Amino acid sequence: MHEPTRPVVARFCPSPTGNPHVGMARTALFSWAFARHHGGKFVFRVEDTDASRDSEDSYQLLIDVMRWLGLDWDEGVDIGGPHGPYRQSERMDIYADVARRLVEGGFAYKAYDSADELEGRRNAARAAGKPSGYDGLHRDLTPEQQADFEAEGREPVIRFKMPAKDWTFTDLVRGDITFGAENVQDFVIVRANGQPLYTLTNPTDDAMMGITHVLRGEDLLSSTPRQIALYEAFAEIGVGGGFTPEFGHLPFVMGNGSAKLSKRDPESNLLDYKPKGFLPEGLLNYMALLGWSIADDRDVFTLEEMVEVFQIGRVNPNPARFDLKKCEAINADHIRMLSVDDLQQRLLPFFQAANLIGAEPSADQLATLAVATPLVHERMTLLTEAVDMLRFLFIADDDFMIDEADRAKSLDHAGLEVVRAAREALDVANLTEWSTVAIESALRSSLVDGLGLKPRLAFGPVRVAVTGSRISPPLFESLELLGHARTMARLDAVLT
Ligand code: GLU
Repeated sequence: MHEPTRPVVARFCPSPTGNPHVGMARTALFSWAFARHHGGKFVFRVEDTDASRDSEDSYQLLIDVMRWLGLDWDEGVDIGGPHGPYRQSERMDIYADVARRLVEGGFAYKAYDSADELEGRRNAARAAGKPSGYDGLHRDLTPEQQADFEAEGREPVIRFKMPAKDWTFTDLVRGDITFGAENVQDFVIVRANGQPLYTLTNPTDDAMMGITHVLRGEDLLSSTPRQIALYEAFAEIGVGGGFTPEFGHLPFVMGNGSAKLSKRDPESNLLDYKPKGFLPEGLLNYMALLGWSIADDRDVFTLEEMVEVFQIGRVNPNPARFDLKKCEAINADHIRMLSVDDLQQRLLPFFQAANLIGAEPSADQLATLAVATPLVHERMTLLTEAVDMLRFLFIADDDFMIDEADRAKSLDHAGLEVVRAAREALDVANLTEWSTVAIESALRSSLVDGLGLKPRLAFGPVRVAVTGSRISPPLFESLELLGHARTMARLDAVLT
């Protein structure tokens, strides 16, 4: 079991490109749960150093998604904190200063190679079966050589000088990992145009923000030896707290087949989950299963339960597969776990979005929603399904419509005969009170006992006539809620 040696500070540091996606949120969740489990801090930083790809919209969406999921942060964008600013685009002078100190300290150097020169040497190395990374040619240029290159008009990149040694670290998920010296060459930290790269900005910020544990996707594993080397240099030049964080690389999330879930896969887009009617609880629970489990025989749990027992060492390093059906099934379980009041409040915006309840709900509308919610509570996978099932109650009578496919199936000649009998049974003359019990008994004795129909055939046509669909909440309760007059009007409408 991993016991952190210093108070935990974990982070989430996405780049704001495109829409927030599932892989990203899974990383945020694990890092957050790790921080919370250990009573530590969680920092939310945004890595927006690539002006050509980053956007303000994406930046805002990241914040919105984190808030919707309920993954709170102690320091970071939107709220500030002692190590701000938390957007890398606002920290450029810091990176320039760190790069300069690395060069002055002899940990990095200016390299003047042209792209053609680099490529020529790389090809030659490959042909000779040697590692094809940077060969270190400009590592030890004299000031005169540098001046000559500059006189030629060359603009240097800054490269970090990798100490010639093997790099071994204990990954919190994968155990001991070694990168041989030959595989990690001097790498660029600042472009010729002065733009600092991820290779520099990410460890600089992690160091200055006191990050103790870096949890991130497996795709970044190969950058770790470089970052560890940078931390060793930082300790020498006084950037950050003088220690190297621990690293844990989370498994890939696979989509269909053997491909990684890509940003382009529709189920990857996190923005779709809320309007589709996922609960943040359900989505978080499912995302937790992408590499972790609470117990072999248990899939459904709350975020609090996850935090209580989350151990980074129990994350499975093997790729996890994203399965939308399973995600929906878990969501359904979380809907069932809500109280009726809570569910009702979460349903309200969906009814408003569907124009079934106004922006300022009337007392009547809220009362109807309150009594209708329990009827559909156990029947939904997604919150949007409640809107479909209860539309018949809220819709203005003039706008009420019957699904055409359902009409064709259920309201044929025989179906209309059933509706006629139902109408008769529910007439005031034959019914003393309008209650679920009275409605049920009237319809059963008329349709099942009287006409000798099986319940499905007896009630199906009534259901379609009154609710407009073959999928609805329980029928007798639905009729009670709809009221006598509206029920009769709908039965009449299909008969005329
Ligand atoms: N901005 C990087 C990304 O989104 C962060 C990687 C890291 O966690 O170190 O991939």
